[in-house]
Amino acid sequence: MNFDLTQEQEMIRRTIREFADEEVAPGAIERDRTKEFPVEIFRQLADMGMMGLPFEEKYGGAGADTISFAIVTEELSRACASTGITYSAHISLGGAPLNLFGTEEQKEKYLTPICTGESFGAFGLTEPNAGSDAGGTQTTAKTEGDDFVINGGKVFITNASYAKNLALTAITGEQDGKKEISAIIVPTDAEGFKVIDNYEKMGLNASNTTELVMENVRVPQENLLGKRGNGFRQFLVTLDGGRIGIGAMAVGIAQAAFDRALRYSKERKQFGKSLSEFQVNQFKLADMALKIELARNMVYKAAWLKDQGRPFSKEAAMCKLYASEIAMEVADEAIQLHGGYGYMKEYEVERYMRDAKLLEIGEGTSEVQHMVIARHIGV
Ligand SMILES: Cc1cc2nc3c(=O)[nH]c(=O)nc-3n(C[C@H](O)[C@H](O)[C@H](O)COP(=O)(O)OP(=O)(O)OC[C@H]3O[C@@H](n4cnc5c(N)ncnc54)[C@H](O)[C@@H]3O)c2cc1C
Repeated sequence: MNFDLTQEQEMIRRTIREFADEEVAPGAIERDRTKEFPVEIFRQLADMGMMGLPFEEKYGGAGADTISFAIVTEELSRACASTGITYSAHISLGGAPLNLFGTEEQKEKYLTPICTGESFGAFGLTEPNAGSDAGGTQTTAKTEGDDFVINGGKVFITNASYAKNLALTAITGEQDGKKEISAIIVPTDAEGFKVIDNYEKMGLNASNTTELVMENVRVPQENLLGKRGNGFRQFLVTLDGGRIGIGAMAVGIAQAAFDRALRYSKERKQFGKSLSEFQVNQFKLADMALKIELARNMVYKAAWLKDQGRPFSKEAAMCKLYASEIAMEVADEAIQLHGGYGYMKEYEVERYMRDAKLLEIGEGTSEVQHMVIARHIGV
């Protein structure tokens, strides 16, 4: 067993950490306030070759592994979780299904612009009446000649305003009396396709979360992604990988909250002593560090299993569940250690808590992760 990062992973960590500290962190409070999408940061990430990090070089990717993806997501989220979720969804929800299930032609056409950063990656699964029960999809794609004609709607879709194409699920027919759900690649500028960007969110304010409306959107049948009727299964596989991204985001936010809490507790004096001299606060900080260490190990383990081509679904659910819950706990404790100042935006810790909450909800709620784990342990 070897817990050391490889030279390449170390180099990626050094590069992205420096970038996160110098370019991403400084504007995070302002972007949280203005809700401005970090376009310039992503232009720079594209120049650094990060936008297609785990995909093959022939599509413009960098051919790196999942651990490297987790490291980049963690470091970006430590500086600004809105940037982190944009990146994580771009790679693991936007690029990954194309990479896993696309034909050679589809990859060249749709994955390449994602890798170069020309287009953002996005993924349309959730609907108003199909969230945790994603199989409850009501969007339909009827076959008409050589085309699919799509009608329906999606909610809470990350990055769609900045995506040129995205894969979404729709009912394409019936199989043995059950809905046949397929994945279809849809250009976002197709006639009848509307992207609405007007959610008022609790956090992750600089990330793009959208509603999609499809009214008689016509796409050629060659835009089917993977096998007809396999859409639901494909999206479950995609979500397994996405959960590593959410776990990594959670570790990044928790690390940021811990770093702030440690620094502040050494600086702030009450009763003639720094807060860190009180044993109760030392224990709080020790618990925070312990939780982050365990969460990071679990994220890396899930990523490592994926890189080995081994089953990782249970570990991805475990890392997502544990890391997202400790991110909330650590952010909450960081606010507590800051006292009244923690309640003020300037100290950043309140943003960490607002941003972290999404991680217990997106890509399968904590309850859904428990269901996945229960299934794997034979309950
Ligand atoms: C900011 C943001 C970004 C997102 N990005 C995307 C995206 O890019 N693409 C995409 O497709 N989706 C995206 N989502 C959607 C997200 O994945 C869903 O919100 C999530 O899966 C939960 O679905 P729901 O909101 O319909 O909640 P529901 O499924 O209605 O759940 C409500 C509550 O009921 C619980 N519950 C549901 N079923 C059960 C059960 N069987 N047993 C016990 N408890 C249960 C849930 O755990 C939850 O606590 C995003 C959401 C947000 C908020």
